Amino acid sequence: FHFDSSRTVCTVMADWGKCLDFGVSIARQVVLDAFEAQKVVSLKTSPADLVTETDQGVENLLISAIKEKYPTHKFIGEESVAAGASPVLTDSPTWIIDPIDGTTNFVHRFPFVAISIAFAVNKQTEFGIVYSCMEDKLYRAQRGKGAFCNDIPLRTSGLEDITKALVVTEIGTERDDLSLSTLTSNIYRLLKIPIHGIRAVGTAAVDMCLVASAGADAYYHVGMHCWDIAASALIVSEAGGVVHDISGGKFDLMSRRVIAASSRTVARGIAQVVEAFPCERDDGLPDADQAIGALTQRDGHWVSNDFLKLPCDKPCGIVIESV
Ligand SMILES: [Mg+2]
Repeated sequence: FHFDSSRTVCTVMADWGKCLDFGVSIARQVVLDAFEAQKVVSLKTSPADLVTETDQGVENLLISAIKEKYPTHKFIGEESVAAGASPVLTDSPTWIIDPIDGTTNFVHRFPFVAISIAFAVNKQTEFGIVYSCMEDKLYRAQRGKGAFCNDIPLRTSGLEDITKALVVTEIGTERDDLSLSTLTSNIYRLLKIPIHGIRAVGTAAVDMCLVASAGADAYYHVGMHCWDIAASALIVSEAGGVVHDISGGKFDLMSRRVIAASSRTVARGIAQVVEAFPCERDDGLPDADQAIGALTQRDGHWVSNDFLKLPCDKPCGIVIESV
């Protein structure tokens, strides 16, 4: 007889609604004092990658509160990973936490800062919570049960015509020539389609929720981490949007590449003009493009696979669907 404790937990707790409610209550609770506090800023991976004591403090508060209630659950938290914890997603019930998405905004008091909490079982996201603290907007979605902002149901714009699209992306924290030239040429090519405009809010979680709530029609990015978008990817798909890899193939949570859009047509339009730069996966596995030899250099840029030709079926991250 083989006893699998994680399976037992899964069976007993088939409806994760109570976990969701608990996540919502602690997300609201922990920010009450944190944002008033004095900020001590440190650097992480680059001079533009900031972290504060609040990031670490909020993550510790969230994890200890969840552990007390669900002692068998696992965690992937941005600051725990920065401190050396494993970012590998297993089949066990796992909370994927970004205590502050938009730390640079937070440091500058630019008013878009979010707490992102996702919960995955068998590598499938069961629910996602994004609390945009300054706006007091609480976005949430449960798999198969829709997406909401402050209890109002969300729908994406449904836009099909990319020339009418407002697109959000992020500038990121990379400052090397290859990343910056890819980033700027992507923006150039999108504007030349032409589209209505491009915005960068400073938090991937809120960017994706803007797509879910029809404020924007698409979001794309290379270089964000799984904790930035795990929750909001579900919020977008539950709001009727699509979530893909930047190549247009299947979305992989650990790949650090994403397109979220109002429709397949808009996602396809972005995938056709946007290029990726090499980016180490969150779980340390080989990059999909490099693994199958399909990422090539052209005119000094790394060029991703042809649209729809990338078989992104890897045994790791969370896969939603293909364009
Ligand atoms: Mg963060």
